[in-house]
Amino acid sequence: MHVMEEQPSPLHKLMQTEGFKPFSGPDAIRVYRKSIQRLNMENMDENDLLNAVSSLGVLLETEIALMYALQDQICTRCGKCCTVNKSMRVPKTELKQIAEHVKTSYKKIKKQTRARPRRDGTMRIKRSPCPFYDEECTVYPARPGECRGYPANMLLKSLGGKAEYPSDCEISDDLLVEIAIKRALEEKMHRENPELMIELAEKKKRDLGRLGGMNQSQRLAYLVNRYQKTLNQGS
Ligand code: SF4
Ligand code: SF4
Repeated sequence: MHVMEEQPSPLHKLMQTEGFKPFSGPDAIRVYRKSIQRLNMENMDENDLLNAVSSLGVLLETEIALMYALQDQICTRCGKCCTVNKSMRVPKTELKQIAEHVKTSYKKIKKQTRARPRRDGTMRIKRSPCPFYDEECTVYPARPGECRGYPANMLLKSLGGKAEYPSDCEISDDLLVEIAIKRALEEKMHRENPELMIELAEKKKRDLGRLGGMNQSQRLAYLVNRYQKTLNQGS
């Protein structure tokens, strides 16, 4: 019997995930169009790409890690996320790191930024614009985790229906385009070379199995770090 008949395709598996909700609407259409522009469609099946985009309602741990690693590389530093009227949650350790980065004391930075303690022990800093913004982020290498996690965190929430799509950030679509293209290519490979796909899936499983002693956030941090290293080698 042919291997393809025995193994559900990667997209099929994702779309059969419990609680799966397709990514749809104007944001999905835009991501789909951008993916077409990026891919050589002569060698691609349009349905694979359509399914890859609608399957973005479910993201795998490795894909989430890839998004975090990638956004660090492709952020244009346009500053749109730094000038919104919002408050930012900054753990004390991160505020201390920023103080160290700008060679000042924690006390002074607290005063300068009007950081206020929150009930959960972190600090609240208003962003409109952010006190570290001066035409660009002045503390970029030491910026808080909340900034490092943008727009991926918001994308994840929006795909789960818990937040608006972060359309003000110009790299949001690009992050999803990367994942959609990867999925469409995997689907094509599954048809053309199923044995290789099975081998790769096994390798991925073994790789993740080695991280068994880690909790979820340690595993994610490890994977992000690994992707960052790979991306840096490629750049
Ligand atoms: S809005 Fe997006 S692209 Fe602009 S600085 Fe923020 S994360 Fe980077
Ligand atoms: S710390 Fe930097 S990246 Fe974060 S909101 Fe402020 S200026 Fe923007």
